[in-house]
Amino acid sequence: MIKVPFAIIGGSSTLSIPFPECMDDVNIISMDVVYPTPFGDSPPLTVFEVLPAARVKVVTCRMHGWMHDRSRAESSKQLFWVFGRMGVRNILAEGGVGSIHSAMKPGDIFIPDDYIDFSLRKDVSISNDYLLIMRDPVCPHLKDKVTDVTKDTGEYTVFSKGVYAVTEGRHFESRAEVRALAALGADAVGQSFSPEVYLAREIRACYCGLYLVVNFAEGVVDEWDYDAFKDLFYSESNKIGRILLDTIKALSGETKKECSCAKLRVETLLKKR
Ligand SMILES: [Zn+2]
Repeated sequence: MIKVPFAIIGGSSTLSIPFPECMDDVNIISMDVVYPTPFGDSPPLTVFEVLPAARVKVVTCRMHGWMHDRSRAESSKQLFWVFGRMGVRNILAEGGVGSIHSAMKPGDIFIPDDYIDFSLRKDVSISNDYLLIMRDPVCPHLKDKVTDVTKDTGEYTVFSKGVYAVTEGRHFESRAEVRALAALGADAVGQSFSPEVYLAREIRACYCGLYLVVNFAEGVVDEWDYDAFKDLFYSESNKIGRILLDTIKALSGETKKECSCAKLRVETLLKKR
């Protein structure tokens, strides 16, 4: 299988555009290829090069790889199995979140450094070989790079620290649920941080997510506006795609890891003798 050091897990912010082929510094190597995995066929994956930089290779999927004919957990296992075989070492994800803070507004960017998983997708792994230590679940180095690139655009207010509460969905949360999440220390709520963050650690890849605040979570301020929510869904797509590619360009010249993420995957002690 082709070796690819970078992955982008596309989410709602790039769903409305033909990413990555719409970007002007991209050379498509293969498009919408489905790979066989031990867990079933993968979601369609596109491999491309970012130009001119170091012709660095990137693999990407649309909308987290979620498919209508299988569970989100199954899609994630298939996706990360392929990422593992490709030798992916850095993963950037994007998506939309609801803000639990009145100070973090729709149109702002949230780059969390921690999470609480309220989803039902916890028992998801590719193998039983590792103990995954979830200290510093987000790569500090990737987070710094994404934060710098996002701030350099001058387009966004960036919140580069905070807790992402992962819910199961597919509906949004009730007012009482949002109050509970706030009391537990969450800063934003969404549905796509896990199991990706566990599976990234399992394949020994660094992980960082960039999230566009698309609304206030229920009860944080007055009722949020669907039209404004819809506008954000379409209006920011190219800018988010640009941030993702520029972050990869910024990382592509690095020859060694500047973080300790790889040390947070260790051999399990629970193997059969
Ligand atoms: Zn790292």
